[in-house]
Amino acid sequence: MNILVINSGSSSVKYQLVDMPSERVLTRGVAERIGEAESRLVHRWRIPGGEWQDMQRDEPLADHHDAFRLIGTAMQETGAMPTAGLAGIGHRVVHGGERFREPALIAPDVVAAIRDMSPLAPLHNPPNLTGIEVCLEQFPELPQVAVFDTAFHQSMPAHAYRYALPEHWYSEHRVRRYGFHGTSHHYVAEQTAAHLQRPLGELNLITLHLGNGASAAAIRAGRSVDTSMGFTPLEGLMMGTRCGDIDPAILFYMSRETGASPASLEDALNKDSGLKGICGENDMRTTRELADAGDARAQLAVGMYCYRIRKYIGAYCAVLGRLDALVFTAGIGENSPEIRAQVCSGLEALGITLDTGRNHRQDDGIIEIQQAAAPVGVLVVPTNEEIEIARQTISCIETISSR
Ligand code: ADP
Repeated sequence: MNILVINSGSSSVKYQLVDMPSERVLTRGVAERIGEAESRLVHRWRIPGGEWQDMQRDEPLADHHDAFRLIGTAMQETGAMPTAGLAGIGHRVVHGGERFREPALIAPDVVAAIRDMSPLAPLHNPPNLTGIEVCLEQFPELPQVAVFDTAFHQSMPAHAYRYALPEHWYSEHRVRRYGFHGTSHHYVAEQTAAHLQRPLGELNLITLHLGNGASAAAIRAGRSVDTSMGFTPLEGLMMGTRCGDIDPAILFYMSRETGASPASLEDALNKDSGLKGICGENDMRTTRELADAGDARAQLAVGMYCYRIRKYIGAYCAVLGRLDALVFTAGIGENSPEIRAQVCSGLEALGITLDTGRNHRQDDGIIEIQQAAAPVGVLVVPTNEEIEIARQTISCIETISSR
C-alpha cells in the first residue's frame, strides 16, 4: 500500500511516497520557489536494488497547480508512480484549532474548518489548503487525510492551555495555547515506547524537539499534557531565530521607544531573535563552532539555549510527577552530543545522568544514553514526521472504511 505524503508550503511543496506498512520511502522530492523566477523540482527515487537516483528540473512553476503537475510527470517518467496505485494522500496541516484532535478524512466541512483556522496560522494553513485543493482536483477518487501539527496537544488540560487573559480573548478570539510539532512529539513518543517494549499508555515522557524551531512536550500516559509552544510557535524555548518566552511588555516599551510597527516587532521576534539575536548566527553547528573558538557571544547563546531547556525539563518533571524518559530529537537533539550533555548537566537530582561514551556514539537509530543505573532513561530518537503522517493517514482510512 502506498501513501503520498504532502507538505505544501507557501513557496514549496515537499512530498514523499511511502510503502506501508514497511515504511520504506520510495520517492521524495521538493518543488521549490513556486511563483518565483528560478523555480525547480528536485526529485529522488529508488532504482531497483534500492539506491537513490536524483533528478533536477529547472522549470517555471507559476503556482501550486504547476508544481503538482510537474511532480506527477516526474513520478511517471522515473517509474516512481506505484503501479498498484496510491492508497491515499496524507497532508500536513499546521493548525487544526480546537476542532481536530485526530487526523481527518478530507471532506468539504474539513476544508471549510481548515480555512476557518487560517487567521490563527496565516502563513501556513492557506498554502496547506492549496495543496489539498489541487490534489482533490487531480486525484478525486483517492481518500485524502489532513494530519494536524496541533492535534497531539489537544489533550492538554485547560489549566495548561489557557492564558491568564480576559475570558473573551479566548471565547471570541480563540486565544489559547495550541502547541505545534505535535506530529514529531507523537512519533518519537511511539518510537520510544516500541524501543522500551512498553505500552505508550504507561509512559511519562519529556520530548525535546530541537531543530530550527524547538519545543518541549510533557507526555503523561502517552498523552500530551503540556508543551512549550503556545498560541503561535514563538513561545517557549529559545530557537534559531525565534525568541521563545519573553515579557510581553517589552513589545509595548519598544513600540513607544522606537515607534516600531506591530509587523516589524513581529518580524524581529520571529526572524532576528533566538541564537541569531544573541550571536548573529541561527545555525547551531556554526554557533557551536564559534563558541568552541572562544566567541563570547556564541558561548552566551549556547548557554542561554541549554539553560532554557533545563528550566522546562524541571517544570515538566513537576508537571508529570514521575518521569520515565527524556527524549532528544530533530537536527540539534539528534546530532549534538555536546548540547545534550550541557542540557542534562546538573539534572542528577531529577534522576537524569548521561553516560559520556554512549552520548557520543554515532548511530543512525535510537540510542539510550543514560548511565546504566540511572532511574530515568535518556534517549536519542530520530524523528520522522512524514512516516507519522503516513501512519496516521492509513489508520484514518482504515477506521473509516471499517465503519
Ligand atoms: P528544521 O526545524 O528546519 O527541520 P532540523 O531539525 O533539520 O531543522 O535542525 C536544524 C538544526 O540542527 C540547525 O541548527 C543545525 O545546525 C542543527 N544541527 C544539525 N547537525 C548538527 C550537529 N552535528 N551539531 C549541532 N547542530 C546540528
